[in-house]
Amino acid sequence: MVTLQELTQYTNTFLQVDRFRDYCPNGLQVEGVDHVHSIITGVTASQALLDVANDQQADAILVHHGYFWKNEDLRIVGIKRKRLATLLRNNISLLAYHLPLDAHAEIGNNAQLARLLGLQIDGVLQSAAQTVCGTYGHLKQAVPAEKFKRLIDSILQRNCTHVNAGPANIENIGWCTGAGQGFIELAVEQKLDAYISGEISEPTAHVAREAGIHYYAAGHHATERYGIQALGEHLAQKYDLSHQFVDIDNPA
Ligand SMILES: [Zn+2]
Repeated sequence: MVTLQELTQYTNTFLQVDRFRDYCPNGLQVEGVDHVHSIITGVTASQALLDVANDQQADAILVHHGYFWKNEDLRIVGIKRKRLATLLRNNISLLAYHLPLDAHAEIGNNAQLARLLGLQIDGVLQSAAQTVCGTYGHLKQAVPAEKFKRLIDSILQRNCTHVNAGPANIENIGWCTGAGQGFIELAVEQKLDAYISGEISEPTAHVAREAGIHYYAAGHHATERYGIQALGEHLAQKYDLSHQFVDIDNPA
């Protein structure tokens, strides 16, 4: 068991939330009961996830995609009203960690994807504005690009979209979980063989072809399942909490 205050303080420090300028508040977003015995983790604080947490009588929910995004409608109506009502009526806290959870060196989404795909991390992909936009690294041994697609498919349980535009065998790879397709140009600058993210946009295919780099769109949801899960396990161990990761599947 842990107090909500300690859980929040510890997690904020662990994920170094102060280092990030983000599009949403990181940390405690909705306050519930003072003492936390059980937590539920999930990728997104959707109504389906809240309903499971409520059925399981969880004290707190931790997610990667929470609420209160920059430029969203400020009014508490419709879907947002229903979600907040579920949390407040049942005294369930919501903690959300966006960019700090992508970037964390051990339990972060990018680090966890590397672990799953057997990638050794060499450095971060950084934009001109000095924001971290992903990671790059290498495979122990070069593999055929098509074989690597099948590896992604089997590990993430998803038929990933492969723009087959680079060398036959790949070794140096960049990646950024979620909607990081726009950062493919950083991978090009770094002269990598391939770049992986969650989604694909129309221009991504042209950039890949014209720069001669493979692009794998492995699923926004699928690439971001692992950070929050690892965070939940870490907290459960540290504070002796019951923890369940709930995968509300998403085709995106
Ligand atoms: Zn995301």
